[in-house]
Amino acid sequence: MKRDILSMDLPELTAAVKEMGQPAYRAGQIFSWLHKSGVASFDEMTNLPKTLREALHDNFVIFGCAIEKKLISEYDETVKYLFRLHDGEFIESVLMKYRYGWSVCVSSQVGCRMGCKFCASTMNGVVRSLAASEILSQVYAIRRDARVRVSHVVMMGMGEPFDNFDNALRFLELITDENGQNLSMRHISLSTCGVIPGIERLADLGLQLTLSVSLHAPDSETRSRIMPVNKAYDVELLFDACHRYFQKTGRRISFEYAMIDGVNDSDGQADLLARKIHGMPGHVNLIPLNNVVESEFKPSRRVAAFQKRLESHGITATVRRSLGGDIDASCGQLRRKAMEGRDEA
Ligand code: SAH
Repeated sequence: MKRDILSMDLPELTAAVKEMGQPAYRAGQIFSWLHKSGVASFDEMTNLPKTLREALHDNFVIFGCAIEKKLISEYDETVKYLFRLHDGEFIESVLMKYRYGWSVCVSSQVGCRMGCKFCASTMNGVVRSLAASEILSQVYAIRRDARVRVSHVVMMGMGEPFDNFDNALRFLELITDENGQNLSMRHISLSTCGVIPGIERLADLGLQLTLSVSLHAPDSETRSRIMPVNKAYDVELLFDACHRYFQKTGRRISFEYAMIDGVNDSDGQADLLARKIHGMPGHVNLIPLNNVVESEFKPSRRVAAFQKRLESHGITATVRRSLGGDIDASCGQLRRKAMEGRDEA
């Protein structure tokens, strides 16, 4: 079994290099090739002796993502990637352009087991979690392909990051490593459907990233209806965990709220949401529901009214700009099409 070298941190790499009878500084060179240059093969590590490159090739593998399909939005330069992993599984990532730079949305799992009723990623359950290397290589592959400097990352693609906590954390460590991409932790967002133990573990780490909580309903009944995870981690306990998270880290939480017609878009729900957030500087991100073919839910027409209502209670609420509407940019839809062979293009 070859070792997954792209998931290794510098101390692990140093130990491995020493085991091969090499001087420790080689680890730094290899790390830099992998994470700063983002090379896809050992042959490209031109300042290493050929014998070492061969030894690396024999003992390690660089997990990469192969571009299976790429869709470029005509509206706004958003690029959606369907990647094929080494075992033939598919994942999706999105490159988005903002005023402040380029942002990549990465997947953390192949599929998802959280079962949100409006989400395309979860419809066939989870196949497996991604290694840290496979989360990283989405960013590296996009960087190489699009030739842009990626300054922001959102862990909001397919999968639940807290269902893959250790690898998600290793990804965060590696992408912010000063010897690699050196991304600022403040430029990273991680989104969870509300896995409370994950929120608590993250709170203990005190990272400067932005935690997004996919809330989608302020009351248990509605939330259980659209998000089965609410039966395990009830929204009341979730709000408690969010308040504790803020107290521990001082970081404002972003609440994601996809507006669904007649389900979660009443004034009463806006009032309740405001009450629950009260006491911490929460921010509500209202998302126009993306139509998923198989889903019974329809987009709400009350987005602006709901936003106003929240603001009347002193809660800041923004409406998420919808990017790449012409290219199925909501995660999970491309992979589903590929799996079903519906995609003739
Ligand atoms: N599992 C994590 C991250 C992946 S989902 C989480 O749940 O947060 C990324 C975001 O897209 C979540 O807020 C999710 O609820 C939202 N989402 C999923 N399907 C959607 C749809 N059809 N329309 C709008 N947002 C959707």
